[in-house]
Amino acid sequence: MTTNKSDSDLPPEEVPEKICIDAEEDRFARFKLIAWWDQEKLRRSRVLVIGAGALGNELLKNLALLGVGQVFVADMDHIELTNLCRSVLFRPGDEGQPKAMTAINAAKKIYPDQNSESFMGNITTSLGLGVFRWADVVLGGLDNREARLFTNRACLKVGTPWVDGAIEALQGVVRAFAPGDDPCYECTLGENDWKILEARRACSLLTRDEMEAGRVPTTPTTSSVVAGLQCQEALKILHDLEGVLYSQAYVFDGLFHQSYTVNYSRNPECQSHEALDMIFETGLASSDTSLGELLELSKQAFEQLDVGIENNPENVYSLEFGRDIIESLHCANCEESQESFVVLGALTIETARCPKCDGERSPSLINHVTEDSPILEKSPAELGMPPWDILVARYGELSIGLELDGDKELVLGRIPANDDSEVL
Ligand SMILES: [Zn+2]
Ligand SMILES: [Zn+2]
Repeated sequence: MTTNKSDSDLPPEEVPEKICIDAEEDRFARFKLIAWWDQEKLRRSRVLVIGAGALGNELLKNLALLGVGQVFVADMDHIELTNLCRSVLFRPGDEGQPKAMTAINAAKKIYPDQNSESFMGNITTSLGLGVFRWADVVLGGLDNREARLFTNRACLKVGTPWVDGAIEALQGVVRAFAPGDDPCYECTLGENDWKILEARRACSLLTRDEMEAGRVPTTPTTSSVVAGLQCQEALKILHDLEGVLYSQAYVFDGLFHQSYTVNYSRNPECQSHEALDMIFETGLASSDTSLGELLELSKQAFEQLDVGIENNPENVYSLEFGRDIIESLHCANCEESQESFVVLGALTIETARCPKCDGERSPSLINHVTEDSPILEKSPAELGMPPWDILVARYGELSIGLELDGDKELVLGRIPANDDSEVL
C-alpha cells in the first residue's frame, strides 16, 4: 500500500473512492478486484507458448495483457502476407520476419515489464525438454498432431500441465492435460489420428519445407475465442483453482452455438504416462559433457535415490535421448555408409542424398546408449541434440532424468535464468 498521504490526513469526505478500493492503483488494479486474483503470482509465472500463428498471437497478446511475467515462445515459420488477417501482433511490413520473435516483441510493447524470449525452430527436433520443465504451464497454438504428441510427451515426462487449442473456420476446441495418470492427449487419439501420424513419420526424413503444411481455414474471431479460453484455463492452473478443463474438451461451435464439453477416458495402452522418478539438475551443458560421463553420473544418481538397487545381472545402465537420432546414412548403390549425427526430422532431403550417385540413402537410427556403446566419447550436442535437454537414464525399472541445465541461460536469453521464485 503506497500513497503519499495516509487516509487519516484527509477529511473522510475527501478520501477518493478508488483509494478505498485499492490504494495501489496500477495498470492491473482492476484485476485485483477479483477475489482470488494474485498479480504477483502472475508476474512470477512462466509460460511456454508453442506456435506463434493465429492462436499463438492471441495467446501472447492475452499473456501480456494479464501481466504474465516470463514468456517463452517457439515457432519455426516466417511471417507471410496471409498471416496478417489473423494475427493481432503482426503488421504490414513484418513479412519475412520470424513469427516468434516478431510476436513476442510486439507483446512486450503491450506489457514492457514482461521478460520474454523467442525460439525459431522445430520443437520436435530442436527444443530441449528443460524449457518444458521450466514452464509452470504450456500453451499449444499448434496445427499438427506430431507437434501435439511431442508436447504431450514432453509435458508428462517433466510434470507440466498443458492447454491445447485447435481452430477450424468458426469451430474450435480447447482441452487441458494434467501430468500423471489422467487421460492425456495421446489417450484421445483414434485410429485415423495414428494413420496420419504414421504418414508423417514415413516421410520424416524430410523437413517441413518439403511437406505441405495443412492449410486449415481459420478466422481471427475463432482464434480469439479459443486462445482466450486457453489463457483462462492457464490463469486457473496458475492460481491453483478448481474447474480446470483437465481431460476434457470444450468444443466451441460458433456457427449454431451448440457448444459442449466431452470427457476423455484413459487409454490403458497409452505409452505417454511414464513420469520420471526424479530429475537431476546436472549443471552441465550439452556441448561440455560426454555420454559416458552422463552415464557415470546416472549411476551415482541411482545410488542417491536410495531405493535399494538390486544387483541384478540382467539390468544394464542405459541413457535414452528421447528423440531418434540418425547415426549414419547408407547408400545401397555405392555400398557406402557415412557417419552423420542429426536428430531425425532435422535432416534435409539434400543432405540425405548420396554425394556420389545422388541416390537416396537410408538412415540407421539410435535412441540410447549403454556402457559398451562406441559413441560414449561424444557429447549430446555432437549427436545433434538440442541444448537444455533432459536425457533419461534407466536401470531396471528405475528411470531418472538428467537435465543439462548448463545451457539454461543460453536458451532463456533475455529471461533471467536465476529467478528463485517458486510459483506453484
Ligand atoms: Zn495417455
Ligand atoms: Zn551412392
